[in-house]
Amino acid sequence: MLASVIYNLFSVKLRILKILKNLTTPTNRDLRQAACLALTIAVQIWKDHHMKKYTTYFNDINAFLTSKEPDMFASLEELVTIQSGSHNKTGIDQTASAIVRAFQGHAVSTEMLEQRLQGNNLVVRSSAQPSAHKQVLLVGHMDTVFPQDTDFNWYKTDDDKSYGPGVVDMKGGLVVGIYALKALDKLGLLKQIPITFVFNSDEEIGSRSSVDLIQKEASSSAFAFVLEAGGLENEIVTGRKGNLTIELHIEGKAGHAAFASKDKPSAILEMAHKIIEIESLNNFDKGITINVGKIDGGIGSNTIPEFSNAQVDFRFMDPSDLKKLEEKVAEIANTVVIQGTRCRVDVISGRPPMQQSPGNRSLFQTTADIANCMGYPVKEQFRFGVSDANFIADLNVPVLDGLGPIGGRDHSRDEYMIKDSLLQRTLLLSCSIIECWRNAESD
Ligand SMILES: [Zn+2]
Repeated sequence: MLASVIYNLFSVKLRILKILKNLTTPTNRDLRQAACLALTIAVQIWKDHHMKKYTTYFNDINAFLTSKEPDMFASLEELVTIQSGSHNKTGIDQTASAIVRAFQGHAVSTEMLEQRLQGNNLVVRSSAQPSAHKQVLLVGHMDTVFPQDTDFNWYKTDDDKSYGPGVVDMKGGLVVGIYALKALDKLGLLKQIPITFVFNSDEEIGSRSSVDLIQKEASSSAFAFVLEAGGLENEIVTGRKGNLTIELHIEGKAGHAAFASKDKPSAILEMAHKIIEIESLNNFDKGITINVGKIDGGIGSNTIPEFSNAQVDFRFMDPSDLKKLEEKVAEIANTVVIQGTRCRVDVISGRPPMQQSPGNRSLFQTTADIANCMGYPVKEQFRFGVSDANFIADLNVPVLDGLGPIGGRDHSRDEYMIKDSLLQRTLLLSCSIIECWRNAESD
């Protein structure tokens, strides 16, 4: 809003300049310069006047977070050095406990949602939340892709980067969210803005144990922010592809390879036909990508394979493509090429696409305006990977993702976070919660 008015004023100025440009006498050139100067001053006065309210809390939050920057990095190191791979319940539960400790003494309630096998989910609510009928939703996942026994279990920093498992996917995002709430508390705003922060335990394996929780909270939210890593060019995510992961299981009939006939019921041979068919569904022009990423089958070269399994990943942009893909896969599964075999398809996980809706774009505009005022311009991004933002967008709740710190090489041993972005993104998130909530309230 603020920036768009400034832009309008500038465009008025440009239009006047255009008119004045046509006047070429020396007197008119003087007039042109005078008009230009007057307008510049007017814009500055207007800007100072209208920025006043905004800069009041901005300066307070900035001062608070700057004083807390060493604590933010200590918190990041603490969280990164707790191993919390998706199947490591102990590590995820320890992470959740560390987060509860980080919120001690703040105007929030914490609720640990115990799970028997999967790591616990944690819900943190601002003290304004219980009486509200709408809220702000923050979502961050505590699990990483790194298994319990990995030797990638350290944290280190150099001049401009921090390194470690999940440093940016997304322990860094958790720190951004935690300290944004601390900053709002410092200003007394947790008593005014209803916020629910879901820390879930299984995002990296499809969020099966947390999707209902996320969608339940999203359904009573005015908007949501997800704290996956920001893009390397300071991008914020307004849209994502959808995905579907399936497993194909083919059964054949075992026998000695030496006595096989030409129509042997080989599960691997049938799988080979199906792989070619499935890969042929790739349609890069439509943004549909399909990858058969893992196969196994058989017990040895001298035995006709009795079984074969394959894992397949589908990515798509249009929700209607999902149904079409499912129908085509069912057709391929049911078409038997090698007689005596049969195929079963199991859906492992999936997320609907997050479309770049007007609601998402409006949130982005507010956040981008704040980022501009911070001298920290952000870009809009459509990201190919999926996240929990997909589940929120599916309910038509406006959502932005990629609000965590900036980094790269996630899901690898070279994962890193740009250190400067930890404070910048926390400041941006704190201010975005305030401004977007103010807009939601006035709607
Ligand atoms: Zn992530």
